[in-house]
Amino acid sequence: MRKIKASIFFSSFTLLVLTALVGCKATEESSVNKHLVDSPQAYNDVIKNAKAGDTIVLANGTWNDFEIVFTGKGTKLKPITLTAETKGKVILSGNSNLRLAGEYLVVSGLVFKDGFTPSSEVISFRRNKEDLAFHSRVTEVVIDNYSNPDRFESDYWVGIYGKYNRFDHNHLVGKRNKGVTVAVRLTTEDSQENHHRIDHNYFGPRPMFGSNGGETLRIGTSHHSLTNSFTVVENNYFDRCNGEVEIVSVKSGKNRIANNTFFESRGTLTLRHGNGNVIENNVFFGNGVDHTGGIRVINRDQVIRNNYLEGLTGYRFGSGLTVMNGVPNSPINRYHQVANATIEGNTLINVEHVHLAAGSDAERSAAPIDSRVSNNLIFNENNQAPFSVFDDISGIEFSGNVSNKLNKNKIKSGISEQNLELIRAENGLLYPTKSLNNVGITRDIQPIQKNQTGPSWYNKTEPEVAFASGKTTVVSASGNALYQAIEAAQSGDVLVLEDGTYSIEKIIKLSKTLSIKAKNKHKVFIDFGRSTLFEINNGGSLSIDGVLVSGSNSADYSGNTFVRTAKWGMYKNYRFAMKNSVIKDLNVNHSFHFFNSGSRAFAQSIDIANNVFENITGDIFRLNKEMDDLGIYNAEYVNITNNTFTNVEGTLVNLYRGGSDESTFGPHLLLENNVVNNVGNGKRNKTKSALMLHGVQVTNIHRNTFTDSALINVEHTVGEPVTSITNNKLSKSSKPKVVELRVDGPHTAEIKNNNIR
Ligand code: CA
Repeated sequence: MRKIKASIFFSSFTLLVLTALVGCKATEESSVNKHLVDSPQAYNDVIKNAKAGDTIVLANGTWNDFEIVFTGKGTKLKPITLTAETKGKVILSGNSNLRLAGEYLVVSGLVFKDGFTPSSEVISFRRNKEDLAFHSRVTEVVIDNYSNPDRFESDYWVGIYGKYNRFDHNHLVGKRNKGVTVAVRLTTEDSQENHHRIDHNYFGPRPMFGSNGGETLRIGTSHHSLTNSFTVVENNYFDRCNGEVEIVSVKSGKNRIANNTFFESRGTLTLRHGNGNVIENNVFFGNGVDHTGGIRVINRDQVIRNNYLEGLTGYRFGSGLTVMNGVPNSPINRYHQVANATIEGNTLINVEHVHLAAGSDAERSAAPIDSRVSNNLIFNENNQAPFSVFDDISGIEFSGNVSNKLNKNKIKSGISEQNLELIRAENGLLYPTKSLNNVGITRDIQPIQKNQTGPSWYNKTEPEVAFASGKTTVVSASGNALYQAIEAAQSGDVLVLEDGTYSIEKIIKLSKTLSIKAKNKHKVFIDFGRSTLFEINNGGSLSIDGVLVSGSNSADYSGNTFVRTAKWGMYKNYRFAMKNSVIKDLNVNHSFHFFNSGSRAFAQSIDIANNVFENITGDIFRLNKEMDDLGIYNAEYVNITNNTFTNVEGTLVNLYRGGSDESTFGPHLLLENNVVNNVGNGKRNKTKSALMLHGVQVTNIHRNTFTDSALINVEHTVGEPVTSITNNKLSKSSKPKVVELRVDGPHTAEIKNNNIR
């Protein structure tokens, strides 16, 4: 350990000279006490005696399994500081974490990566239940992919307790396991009415989680939700925070959420519990991305003003603006009635959906009351009115709103239709060319930019490697060439296969993004001798184009599969794509499948186009491994277009999402323009179906031809699933069956224009 009395660093030798030369009392008092430490032991020795004004500096390098307890009493003018020798060069890895407790503590410059916390939080503003942090600050700290490898092992990355703490200019990206990224905890009185400030943080991409527990920021919990928090959340950038339906979940009162930018983030800022919150000057850019939403209003006295929402596609609880119905005399964890809401001066441009009295049902029967929607600007390029009304909205007074010409507008008064033209102003937002007094957002709003958030010294990189973004390598059909080329490839590379036969005798375990493409379509023949050819592991994504695959040389076992994921517990989402290929004779034994997901594996997308599948004894897609009904499932988007399936004994798609939770958007299935011959009739096919869809949220089955095939079997569960089965031809096949498992009454699917013979 070196102790340095100077505001900059010198070598020990220089220090000795300096101390000898200077040494005067005045200098010592005005200088800061800096302690450079290079081991946990040295750190612990220093922190025991840390006084107001001290700075403890962690030496550059990687600190493995370092559980930092940072305690002490600084003062407003002389805080105790913990920082890095060089910001960004101190890496906390393995099972490291940080706890702060005391007063006027400041932490800066640290990077958590290559590991995960051994406790329930990576950074905790408390040492234990009694010992909390006050007037303390965490700034310019990075938590990068520091996720527990067990997706469903829950932790928070940041837990904020105590009062008057600040969390600012931090960079948080890639949380993959269950649990909120940043949680403000109101657990005890010492943490309520806390006046925390959360500002200028970069909330980088959070991948789809595929279950509840993927929120980026939560303030409070339902249990303490009638307590005020007085937390300010301002000037943060939410970049593709796609974890689940709630990006920000407010569960306490009197918070202010202002000047934040939400960029292409699926989900909404949800006022889930608590009263009297103010949401203002925020900017939402959806750019037409699926399920991008805005603000969801529940409870009393909420103010939503001067927000800008553009290009949002979300619907239902994920709409650009949702005003919910409540439960009469609601228990604390359900839905309190909306009362005295003020929604004014907002601009909604190309926002596809505004849902009012949303969620109205036998339980949620209390419609909004004493509320106002005034001076908002609504503009939809396609002239479609965004409003859906699910109950009595006489408790919402509309006045002074302006829109362009809207068709089928359900709101009859309080919105004046005008001829409007928009122009993008210097702040990046659209305004009408003619002046409308006090309608829509003000001119002075300045959306926070990505580069104004997080520490300047840490790069904001893209979250995934795109297919075919790397180099192209040509591979010949000789010996082990393909296997070796796959081993040698970098993530993003393309392997182009010369004409010929490729026999592969090993399982290819893939942990990078790889594209395999035939140089000449259907001149590349692949067979494999093991029980599977490709196994997608963490970090793996696979694209295949133009090959011929046969299973006739595969081992004579039941349950073979062409592609599978790791059998259990993947924590990185993957992508799989295949086009222009022929998959034949997966039939050396029974139950030879094309694609088999392991449990706790999650496909972000599966895209299958222009392929031929023939003579297969098993299933094509087995995406049914989450049978514990926790709202978990195996694939977000499954797109199957323009393929031919012939003589498949098993199920074409078996996609299962069980449970009653409503926190996810998926799964989605698109089945379009396929020819399906004799599929699903095998005696071992337990589903007795060609398609088995349970709890799928969005299903589109259009323009397919089914011949001699088993049932299209759709089971609706929670979340008001959207199912459309149209313009299909079915001959000698059962007619589609849709059942509602959770609600009474007839099913809600659209089934029309099908030619059934
Ligand atoms: Ca949630």
